[in-house]
Amino acid sequence: MTEIQQNLQKVLQSLPNEGVRLVAVSKFNPMTAIEEAYAVGQRLFGESHAQELVPKAQALPKDIQWHFIGHLQTNKVKQVVPYVSCIESVDSDRLLAEIDKQAAKIGRVVDCLLQFHVAREETKFGFGFDECCAMLQSERFASLRNVRITGIMGMASITGDETQLRSEFGRLKAYFDALKTRFFASEPAFCELSMGMTHDYPIAVGEGATLVRVGSGIFGERMYQH
Ligand SMILES: *Cc1c(COP(=O)(O)O)cnc(C)c1O
Repeated sequence: MTEIQQNLQKVLQSLPNEGVRLVAVSKFNPMTAIEEAYAVGQRLFGESHAQELVPKAQALPKDIQWHFIGHLQTNKVKQVVPYVSCIESVDSDRLLAEIDKQAAKIGRVVDCLLQFHVAREETKFGFGFDECCAMLQSERFASLRNVRITGIMGMASITGDETQLRSEFGRLKAYFDALKTRFFASEPAFCELSMGMTHDYPIAVGEGATLVRVGSGIFGERMYQH
């Protein structure tokens, strides 16, 4: 087994047997690294840039599921929509409307997660809770036919403070539950809570994550951190 394959096995073994899926975040890593993970069964990968996702998705096996996890500009939506199984980083109604438009053009329904801002850092993207509720109540949202909201995503603060991390992940879980009750009670597809990265995913799992996004813990430290 290669180092990547060993890291992957370790992460998988540390997750509960059911209810949590691993998104292997392959951004800034070459296709050969993805192929190593693929060879031992990994099929779900995360990318955060359109210009990286598209060539990888075109060249690599078609049974890979690609989750887009980075900040997505509306002018890049058209490029990624044919290749993604889920866009985890929907952070505005304008972006969601554009995904709907581009998905309609190619006859797809694209799964989307709504990204929430819970970290201390102002630089991170995402909805506030009230802002998101306003969108979900709007007529514009009701008119969208080519997106399906399958849950929410968030990133915690960059900190080693476990209490802080637990409180931020707990907040995401509370948002998920509240939205489920208020807007998606009759929609079983709304079931995903994506939270936790290399340094904090065990805490996220403890707080109810159904998807964890692990990059450097599998593929090694990247040259450029995003
Ligand atoms: C890069 C990235 C990750 C993975 O981060 P690691 O610390 O390398 O595990 C997870 N989620 C998002 C949104 C990212 O941009």
